[in-house]
Amino acid sequence: MPEEVKKKRITDVGPHDYHDYLSPMIKKNYGKWAYHEILDPGTMVHVAENGDKLYTVRMGSPRLVSSGFVRDISDMADKYCGGYLRFTTRNNVEFLLENEKNIEPLKKDLEKLGYNVGGIGNVVANIVHTQGWVHCHTSASDASGVVKSVMDELYEYFVEDKLPSKVRIAFACCLNMCGSVASSDIAILGTHRKPPKINHERLVNLCEVPSTIAACPTNSIRPEMVGDKKSVRVNEETCVFCGSCYTVCPAMPIADAENDGLSIWVGGKVSNARTKPTFSKLVVPFIPNEPPRWDKAVQAVKTILEAYKKGAEPGERVIEWIERIGWSRFFKITGFEFTKYHVDDFRLAETSMNYSSHARF
Ligand code: SF4
Ligand code: SF4
Repeated sequence: MPEEVKKKRITDVGPHDYHDYLSPMIKKNYGKWAYHEILDPGTMVHVAENGDKLYTVRMGSPRLVSSGFVRDISDMADKYCGGYLRFTTRNNVEFLLENEKNIEPLKKDLEKLGYNVGGIGNVVANIVHTQGWVHCHTSASDASGVVKSVMDELYEYFVEDKLPSKVRIAFACCLNMCGSVASSDIAILGTHRKPPKINHERLVNLCEVPSTIAACPTNSIRPEMVGDKKSVRVNEETCVFCGSCYTVCPAMPIADAENDGLSIWVGGKVSNARTKPTFSKLVVPFIPNEPPRWDKAVQAVKTILEAYKKGAEPGERVIEWIERIGWSRFFKITGFEFTKYHVDDFRLAETSMNYSSHARF
């Protein structure tokens, strides 16, 4: 890099200090909030020790948004909130109002723009999700399309407080599980069903063979000479189609339009309230991709949600309900078939993870 460019380069400055973006009311009462109340599924109020009140209106967002969307919400923040707003950890938008009288006009304006207010309390809030076919090379399904289809069907659960407890739904388009599918009440996960196809011609030029071998959790990849080229072979008997090898080796693509799809998991949670955090568990091993509306996957999610709504005690999260009634009853109530795929057979985690990194080729 030329010296004069180097001199001008600004680096390692970190993010802006968030204090600069706090509304005056939050700055004044920082760390001095007494309590909060949910007024309805789209609105809550925080009351400070000195009696100050800050109203929050929460709005759903599709996460993947245009600059037009950002301008819309910025205009709303200018009009009603002194220019302040924030995003939640589930990618909802929150408008912070000091004047209670502005709540209804803001909601009306948001409605006119086509945005939905909700997501607070015992509801289905936004679906944490990933890149899908919009941007990632390892996806087995699409994120934005599935999420839109599910939220259209579950809209009433976003805008009305109807559930025994909050239900967190998450989506990931491959089992890298970017986001929170491993620990959500209901999780939708992109799933492959075929081994990678190996491009022997190009593999040695594109991939580092030892790290490709080491990427496999079931030790299914071995070095192999194909003609005069260094390459690898995959043991298709033990391959679990995780796609981890493709992540490190572009010559092992695994996407397959006919055989990729979704699996559904339930019962994860991260909070320590009442019971310990848990991982989500498999309930539907495979549903084919059905763009653009993914009807079967949407119905599977709805089946779980409605069985939970009907059977859970107030305050019970999905896993607490399932553990109370037992997994066999859960399968019976939901009608999902219990298959051999539900039986955990991954016994090699400790010995196989990176075990083959010792291989030399
Ligand atoms: S979950 Fe997988 S496919 Fe989806 S964004 Fe993450 S790495 Fe990409
Ligand atoms: S890394 Fe995954 S997809 Fe690749 S060979 Fe191993 S099990 Fe199969």
